[in-house]
Amino acid sequence: MNMDPTLENETLTAPAPDGPLDIEKIRMDFPALHQKIYGKPLVYLDNAATTQKPSWVLNVIQTYYVCSNANVHRGLHFLSERATHTYEYARSKAQRFLNAADSAEIIFVRGTTEAINLVAHSYGRTFLKPGDEIILTAIEHHSNIVPWQLAAEASGAKIRVIPVNDKGELILEEYERILSERTKVVAVGHVSNALGTINPVHRIIEMAHRFGAVTLVDGAQAAPHMDVDVQELNCDFYAFSGHKLYGPTGIGILYGKRELLEKMPPYQGGGEMIREVGFDRTTYADLPHKFEAGTPHIAGSVALGAAIDYVKHLGLGKIAAYEHALLHEATEKVSEISGLRIVGTASEKSAILSFVMEGVHPHDIGTIVDREGIAIRVGHHCAQPAMKRFGLPATARASFSFYNTPEEIDRLVAGLRKVKEVFAL
Ligand code: PMP
Repeated sequence: MNMDPTLENETLTAPAPDGPLDIEKIRMDFPALHQKIYGKPLVYLDNAATTQKPSWVLNVIQTYYVCSNANVHRGLHFLSERATHTYEYARSKAQRFLNAADSAEIIFVRGTTEAINLVAHSYGRTFLKPGDEIILTAIEHHSNIVPWQLAAEASGAKIRVIPVNDKGELILEEYERILSERTKVVAVGHVSNALGTINPVHRIIEMAHRFGAVTLVDGAQAAPHMDVDVQELNCDFYAFSGHKLYGPTGIGILYGKRELLEKMPPYQGGGEMIREVGFDRTTYADLPHKFEAGTPHIAGSVALGAAIDYVKHLGLGKIAAYEHALLHEATEKVSEISGLRIVGTASEKSAILSFVMEGVHPHDIGTIVDREGIAIRVGHHCAQPAMKRFGLPATARASFSFYNTPEEIDRLVAGLRKVKEVFAL
C-alpha cells in the first residue's frame, strides 16, 4: 500500500492508453462485480441508483484512515495538517473536474439531495418573494422537486413545470411560454434518471438568464457519464453525488458561483463555519467553509477525489462513447421482445433503459431477473410526476456503466425472455 496518501498513484496519473477502453481489465478493478448471486455471475445494471467501487477508491479510504486520520482545519499537529491537505486537495480535484473557476466555489455535501436542499433553503428562502416563480421540469427526481416546494411554501413563490413530449423530451416552446420576469429560479436535471433524456441544459440556462433567473442543474446522472464544464454551461449551481461516480456514499458536491454563495446565508450552523462567535453577534467563515458546519466527511471527500481521478484516467469522452454503444445495443435487442415497450426514447439519451412489459408488473420483472443474478431497478425511480406523465405506476430500468459488457446485455435479454415464459406470454 502507498503509505503517503498525498502522493498521486502512478498508474492513475499516467496518461490513459490510446484506443478504446479495455473493459476486461477495467472489470478487474471492481471486486464487487465478481460475485455470484443465486449461483450465477452478477450482472449489475443498477448503476443509476449507485455504482460499484474500484479497488483504487477502497484503498484510498483505508490509507486515509491508516495514515492521515485527524480532524481538519483544527489542529496544528502533523496529522491534522495532513488530513486538511488531503481534504482540500480533494476539493481542488472536484474543482478541476467541473472546471469551476475557484475551489472556494466547491462545497462538500452529503450528495445531490443535500446540495439542492442547501440552495433551496439558503438561496430560496432568503431571496424568493410571494409572486416569484420557480421553474422545474416534469421529469425531475423528487430531490429536485420537494426542496423547491418547501422553499415555495415558506416564501409564497409558485412552481411552474416544463412539460415533456411522448419521447420524454422537454418542450422548449412551453418553457419559453412560462418564462417571465417572475421567474427567479430554474432548476433542471441534466439527465433524467427515470427516462435517460439528456436535457438541453445549456440552452435552458441561457434562456433563464435572459430573464435574470438563477439556474441549478441536478447533475446526479450526468457527472459520472459525460464531460461537465460549469463555466461553459454558465449554470449558477451544479450538484452531483459521489456514490454514483464510483465513490463512497455520503459525499457529494455543490458547485455555486462565488457571487451567489457570498450573498447566501449559511445553511447550517456549528463548528468550522464561523469566524467569531459571540452571544451578541457571530460572523461566518469565508467560502467554502461557511457552508460546511461540523466535522466533514473527510474520508469520503478524499475517496471522491480518488474516484474523480479514476474516471478522468479512463476519460469521460471514452466512457460516454462506450456507454452509448451499450445503450444502442441494449435498445435494439430488448426491442425484439414482443410486448416490451421502452419508456423514454429521446434522441439525446444517456445509458438508461426504462421499459414496461405487457401483462407483467415491473416488480415481477425485477424479481424474476434477480433470480438470474441480474440487478435492475423497478419502481417509480423517485420520479412520480414523470411516471404519471406516461400513465404508469412504475417501470423496470437497466442502467449501464463502462464496466458492463455486451454479454451482460445478452444475459438481460435472456432474463426478460424468462419473464415471458413464467407468465406464459
Ligand atoms: N437527482 C437525480 C437525477 C438522481 O438520479 C438522484 C439519485 N437517484 C438524485 C437526484 C439524488 O441523489 P442522492 O440520493 O445521491 O442525493
